[in-house]
Amino acid sequence: MADSKTKKRCSFCGRSENEVGFLITGMNGYICDSCATQAYEITQEALGEGKKSAGATKLNLKELPKPVEIKKFLDQYVIGQDDAKRFLSVSVYNHYKRLLQKDSGDDVEIEKSNIIMVGSTGTGKTLLARTIAKLLHVPFTIVDATVLTEAGYVGEDIESILTRLLQVADYNVPEAEQGIVFIDEIDKIARKGDNPSITRDVSGEGVQQGLLKLLEGSVVNVPPQGGRKHPDQKMIPVNTKNILFICGGAFDGIEKKIAQRLNTHVVGYTASQKTATVDKNNMMQYIAPQDLKSFGLIPEIIGRLPVLTYLNPLDRDALRAILTEPKNSIIKQYIKLFEMDGIKLTFEDAVFEYIVDKAVEYKLGARGLRSIVETIMMDVMFEIPSEDKKEYKVTLDYAKMQLEKANIARLQTA
Ligand code: ADP
Repeated sequence: MADSKTKKRCSFCGRSENEVGFLITGMNGYICDSCATQAYEITQEALGEGKKSAGATKLNLKELPKPVEIKKFLDQYVIGQDDAKRFLSVSVYNHYKRLLQKDSGDDVEIEKSNIIMVGSTGTGKTLLARTIAKLLHVPFTIVDATVLTEAGYVGEDIESILTRLLQVADYNVPEAEQGIVFIDEIDKIARKGDNPSITRDVSGEGVQQGLLKLLEGSVVNVPPQGGRKHPDQKMIPVNTKNILFICGGAFDGIEKKIAQRLNTHVVGYTASQKTATVDKNNMMQYIAPQDLKSFGLIPEIIGRLPVLTYLNPLDRDALRAILTEPKNSIIKQYIKLFEMDGIKLTFEDAVFEYIVDKAVEYKLGARGLRSIVETIMMDVMFEIPSEDKKEYKVTLDYAKMQLEKANIARLQTA
């Protein structure tokens, strides 16, 4: 008996020292690890609640960048993709005009125009969305549609998309409610055929149905910490009406669907005339909503993504430009890194051509440019900060030697 009195106990749950992980000693009592964790969670939630009432940054039409300005800004970071840039600039401008209108009590209600971008992987879809968010200073998050599953299945619930947005908005709900969400790989939740499935399709059509709710605008209860690890956590209601959704996907093989549609349309007298104007090398430019349907997106989803645009595959010239031209191009980043060590880094022009050649040869795309440059520069970056040099020039011979040594084929999986 005497023992139970002298035993240290958590002053919150009453459990004794050997029933808990560990006890933290205070002035007049103790707290166990699990009560401490719970107390932390309660504090976090309370802070979140506080921020909820903080209100969103007020937008102002005069300060809102015009489409031409938005495009100019995008031009600094993204090479080419003019069509996509124009579509994005106009839609984003209209979206934020719409937010301004909502306060004015006008009876002509402007509808939301979520965006869908179609283009091979690594052509700049994410970069475009990210750059727009940077310009507008609004909360921005990227989610991968492949991890989403219908509620109740292994994977993430659809609502987790908004958890991330809340987190980047620091739990300021009104701020999050005017943010941008980029849903990547939307094509991966396409159903497997044009026909509605008879069997359950937990990561395809079911997810599309779930997404609908988000895209069209509704109040969604969002778990503040995401996941299902905290079943007892308090949900935060978030209205998605003013959240701009930008979706992106490679839609591999969609060119075939486009070609089929174009072919079926050009039967008749004008057939030869029309087929002559079709540029077979870039079918993507003719993409239309019905192609997304043939690919397996449900019509309701397509209807909620009224702005459809495409990205061009990157050719040699584009890759060459990506290497050096964007405001934070890979090469500029390396020059900066060396500058911080007091070293002036330069490259022989032929090095750039060589890097592009290798990226094309091994089909590495824009993402591969970075891995190639990294491989070339690794040894220099290791040695030069300890040497007493003020300049360093990367020559073609050196670049070749480094890449050959590293076995470039290895980069293909990158
Ligand atoms: P996607 O989302 O289309 O798969 P990303 O936008 O993630 O591709 O592009 C991958 C990387 O390739 C970017 O971080 C960027 O460095 C580079 N990149 C791709 N396309 C472009 C482009 N058009 N202009 C500049 N950089 C690009």
